[in-house]
Amino acid sequence: MDWKRTAARGLGWVTTLPYRAQTRISIGPRLLGNGRLRISGPGRVVFEADVNAWSHAEVNRLITTRPEALIHIGRHARLNGCTIIAAERVDVGADCVLGSCEVRDHLPYSESPADRRHPGPAQPVVIEDNVWIGGQVSVLPGVRIGRDTVVGISGSVKTNPPPPTCDQCKHMPRWERINGPDQSVRLEDGRDVIRRGQVWVCTHCGHQVPVSFEAWT
Ligand SMILES: [Zn+2]
Repeated sequence: MDWKRTAARGLGWVTTLPYRAQTRISIGPRLLGNGRLRISGPGRVVFEADVNAWSHAEVNRLITTRPEALIHIGRHARLNGCTIIAAERVDVGADCVLGSCEVRDHLPYSESPADRRHPGPAQPVVIEDNVWIGGQVSVLPGVRIGRDTVVGISGSVKTNPPPPTCDQCKHMPRWERINGPDQSVRLEDGRDVIRRGQVWVCTHCGHQVPVSFEAWT
């Protein structure tokens, strides 16, 4: 093991000592760091083994806003200046690389006009294994990013909310989101994107509405 890695491991240990004393925070073995890691809030934060939180510039910020919230960072993930905010749950898979992006499972203010000054509802975010998310990317509530995806700089990954009433049966159903097949689409400007196949399903009649969300590749 080279001296830089040894130093990063030592620093990763020393700079997270205050967090290690807290029962709601669990840090697996061999964390690498340089003091640019801030964990705050009443919820739980779990780092699996071999996470690299050494940040070149920006601070990694992991923020929970409710006691029942969980931020889970998979084995051997690389956090390089990301911000993660959870009211319910954000999962970052093994081997992921997160640049200075923002990942959040709820919006700070509600999209509903009547409820503007309250936080939006929480919808868990799942980033599957081996995903790379570049800088200035926002990953918004309810998003699942599939294994091995690359989301380039300044992109945005979001889902549309379920429609209030079903076109088919005219009820106001409970909507459920299910996974469908992914589609590869070429945009007018020549970029290829993966359109992740997810659909809202009316729990009353089974009518399906596509959830459009795109990941730049
Ligand atoms: Zn329906």
